[in-house]
Amino acid sequence: TDPLTQLSNRSHTDEYLKKHLSHGLPARHALIVIIADIDHFKAVNDNYGHLAGDHVLREFSQLLKEHTRTQDFVGRWGGEEFIIAMPDITPGQAVKNAERLRSAIEDYDFGSSGPVTASFGVALSTEHDTRESLIGRADECLYKAKSQGRNRIITDKVFAQSGHGTQVSCNQA
Ligand code: GH3
Ligand code: MG
Ligand code: MG
Repeated sequence: TDPLTQLSNRSHTDEYLKKHLSHGLPARHALIVIIADIDHFKAVNDNYGHLAGDHVLREFSQLLKEHTRTQDFVGRWGGEEFIIAMPDITPGQAVKNAERLRSAIEDYDFGSSGPVTASFGVALSTEHDTRESLIGRADECLYKAKSQGRNRIITDKVFAQSGHGTQVSCNQA
């Protein structure tokens, strides 16, 4: 457990993903992996101090838990980056849930250090994915969400193929 946020730490997150992807997941058991990164978080530290930054990280983590299902996995990947894994969900429902989460963060009152937003990269597993390939696509989508203006969700090419992706998508062939 990560001591600051009480979420699963990096190594537990790695283990979870390894366990769920090691045997190749058939499409009906696809796993959805989201990487969430707080927008302009360095400015929170710079403007309000490191302790205020820590406070935002704790509240942000709480929001992630509140706005995901009990069967979803939520871990701190490092710094102000988080991983959410959603098993047993359709691509369409996963995008809806991610959008609700994004909007809950935007609307939440973080007090003097707010408002806070986050960007999300979302990838849908295929039976050929490893932990690295799936995280890699989610990461590319996160990068694109940042470059498109932040506070948004971008889904990967597997989502696009499923017909349930966001309007702008990433790593298209
Ligand atoms: P972007 O929107 O592009 O993500 O910008 P950013 O400022 O969020 O990203 P950047 O990677 O420049 O800064 C991340 C900051 O997160 C820098 C680092 O000091 C801070 N940080 C990482 N871990 C912690 C922590 O445990 N506590 C606090 N207070 N700050 C942390
Ligand atoms: Mg970051
Ligand atoms: Mg950031």
